[in-house]
Formats: sequence, structure tokens, C-alpha cells
Amino acid sequence: MGWKWLVETYRLIGEDVSRSPSPAMMNAAFRAVGIDAVYEAVNVGRAEFSDRFLALRAETSGVNLTIPFKSDVIPLLDALDEVSARIGAVNVVARTGQRYKGYNTDVNGITAPLRERGMGRVRKALLLGAGGAARAFCEAMSQLGCAEITVAVRDAAKGERFASEMAMIFGGIRFSVVVIDRVGGTEADLVFNATPIGAGDPLPEALKRVIYGHATVFDAVYRPMKTELLRTAEEKGSPIICGYEMLLNQGTMAFELWTGKPAPKAVMESALRTSLEGAR
Ligand code: NAP
Repeated sequence: MGWKWLVETYRLIGEDVSRSPSPAMMNAAFRAVGIDAVYEAVNVGRAEFSDRFLALRAETSGVNLTIPFKSDVIPLLDALDEVSARIGAVNVVARTGQRYKGYNTDVNGITAPLRERGMGRVRKALLLGAGGAARAFCEAMSQLGCAEITVAVRDAAKGERFASEMAMIFGGIRFSVVVIDRVGGTEADLVFNATPIGAGDPLPEALKRVIYGHATVFDAVYRPMKTELLRTAEEKGSPIICGYEMLLNQGTMAFELWTGKPAPKAVMESALRTSLEGAR
């Protein structure tokens, strides 16, 4: 190969990723394993996404996608793994030569923290939101044998469309829809927030009432690390799972897909927590 020194580049592409803690987490991982690589966050506007992605991927070893590009990237790839094809959302692109394959590691981001707590099965779940993270949640629930998901949304028509689509994909799960302000009386053993509530948007009163003690409450929002939803859950005695755990576990799986090496999880967790705690 001669003398030429090439640093591999990995990228996170999203509409607004300037404050993302992912570069801190992934760069710490590359350093710990001795891989000469850099991971950087790149803001890309919706109108320019296709052109920018095609240009960037040629000089990138691996890509993470986030809001709003997890579905838009699909037509630009050569192949999809089974999970991302099923749910229509890609958050990781791995490259082999000139072939680009999409994966969804958000699902692992959800199942891994639950399994770590012994929740290898979920009976009934309350899901807040019907966007990309909600799709990953439905796949995760299918993997954990869930029988029933109530989808709480602010727009009932959107919720119904989402629930019928998910019911077609996941025939073993019964779906129902409720408007978030009127949610009540659920007996879910898991509540999952896949909306930006808590990252600025206030927590609806109705939600405070359904958090009642024995349901585990898992928030995808990772900034702040302990959202109002999680604080409320803790006050009522519910076990909680913070959004950074999802970010960490999607990241470890992405690292392993890209490098073929075991992810240095403790190093990644520490870098992630430092980044989130330092920049509130
Ligand atoms: P998305 O595709 O834009 O979906 C957001 C969903 O939230 C939509 O159903 C939207 O409803 C709903 N929503 C937005 N504001 C709301 C409000 N004030 N009240 C009730 N519902 C509201 O976004 P996403 O990719 O699913 O991400 C959702 C959240 O999860 C974000 O905060 C994101 O940062 C977080 N996330 C975290 C991780 C992690 O690794 N920790 C991974 C993925 C996502 P409408 O359709 O009516 O707008």
C-alpha cells in the first residue's frame, strides 16, 4: 500500500445534528479499539439529501441516519437487512466496496436495555408516537413476544394509518389507537415514549395519570437524560430506562457492523454520558 496514510471517515447525517453526542461516543470507541477513524455529524437539508448522500457515501466507510432521513435513504441503497426492510427505516449504512447496505440498530437499542433488566418478554405496551422510533419499537415488541400495543398520538387519523400498517406487518400483535390527551386506564407493563415530549414539549396531564407504579417507563428522548416523563415515573415507583441507553445500544451494534470488532461498550457509555451531562 506504500506510505499513504488514510483515515477512515464515518458520518451521522441528519437535518439538525450539530449537538449530537454520537461523535463523542463513536470517536471514543475508535480510539479505544485502535482504529484510525473519525466520526463526524453533518447537517443536510431535506431538499439536498439525495445528492449529498450520494456524494458523501463515496468517501465514507459507514453512515448513521437520523431525523428525517431514515426512510428517504432506502431508494439510495443496494440492499437492506431483514429488519430495516420490514419496518421501512434505516439508521445504519455499512459499506462493502461499492455496495451500501442498510440496517436498523434502533431495534437493538430498545431490546438490549429491556433484556438487561430481565424483560425478555413484554405482554402489553403503551407506545407514544407513530414516527420512525415507533416503527423500531413495534419490531422490538414483536421480537419480545408482545401481544398488544396501544398507540397514543395527537392526530387520530395518523395513528390509525400507522396502526393498520403495523398490524399488517406484525400479525401477532393487536393494535389500538388513542389520542394522547385522553389516554387512561392502560394496564401496560411497558410505556415507551417515541415523541419529542420531554425534549421541550410539555408532558400532557393525561400521561402523568397513566404512570402508576408497576409499568417500566422507557423514554427515547436522551436530552435531558432524565425527562419529566422519567422523573414522574420514578416518583411513582416505576422502573425507568433513559434514552441514552437506546442511543448506546444502537451505537454498539453499528460499531460492530462497521468494524467486525466487539464494541467497547463501557468506554462508549462513559463518553456518551460525559457528553450529555456536560452539554445540557
Ligand atoms: P419522528 O419520526 O418525527 O416521529 C415523532 C412522533 O412524535 C410523531 O408521531 C409525531 O406526531 C409525534 N409528536 C411530535 N410532537 C409531539 C407532541 N408534542 N405531542 C405528541 N406527539 C408528538 O421522530 P422519531 O425519529 O420517531 O423520534 C422521536 C423521538 O425519539 C425524538 O425525540 C428522537 O430524538 C428520539 N429518538 C431517540 C433515539 C435514541 O437512540 N435514544 C433513537 C431514535 C429517536 P405527528 O406525526 O403528529 O407530528
